[in-house]
Amino acid sequence: MNLLKEKILKDGYAIGSNILKVDAFLNHQIDIGLLDEIGKSLHERFKEDSITKILTIEASGIALAVSTAQHFDNIPVVFAKKTESLNLDEELYTSEVESFTKNKSYKIMVSKKYITSADKILIVDDFLANGKAILGLKEIIDQANATLVGAGIVIEKGFQEGGDIIRDMGIKIESLVTIDSIEDGVVKFRD
Ligand code: 5GP
Repeated sequence: MNLLKEKILKDGYAIGSNILKVDAFLNHQIDIGLLDEIGKSLHERFKEDSITKILTIEASGIALAVSTAQHFDNIPVVFAKKTESLNLDEELYTSEVESFTKNKSYKIMVSKKYITSADKILIVDDFLANGKAILGLKEIIDQANATLVGAGIVIEKGFQEGGDIIRDMGIKIESLVTIDSIEDGVVKFRD
């Protein structure tokens, strides 16, 4: 996706050789034109898959999931919550996710009301690194006996192991751009 590549090169920046910051257009300030293109592209890649629901993790995934869902025929977005609160339902599916950027684990929670065994679910997320976020969401989908159809990712870091791990499990992954390396602040894309 050329628009996304241009934006990454222009407004993204690297922290070391592992982390790409995209706060200027995706993770803090959001470029709405780009967000719209991302939603269209992810829909295009999963439009034949009879998706009934999109699942993501708060907070950065929500805008991406909503933008994608708009192009399907009236399907809801569910986001896993990261913080416990008194007004959260008592009946929850939960799992643990090891955060790559924060170097610690956190719990994710989804109310049992919002995923059922009839659901065919598309996961949407901003980055794919080691695959822990997708695996945590998959665990929740499995607990609900729902079907994981695939994962739509905005930026896959191809030099980390997540893509291989998830694809080896037979799960469809579509990434809008794949980064091969980040060296001395220079981002190199695959193809
Ligand atoms: P994974 O679970 O695949 O190891 O990492 C994916 C999650 O970690 C994403 O939800 C994203 O929030 C965060 N993440 C991983 N790598 C990066 C990165 O290079 N930049 C940013 N901004 N977030 C990242």
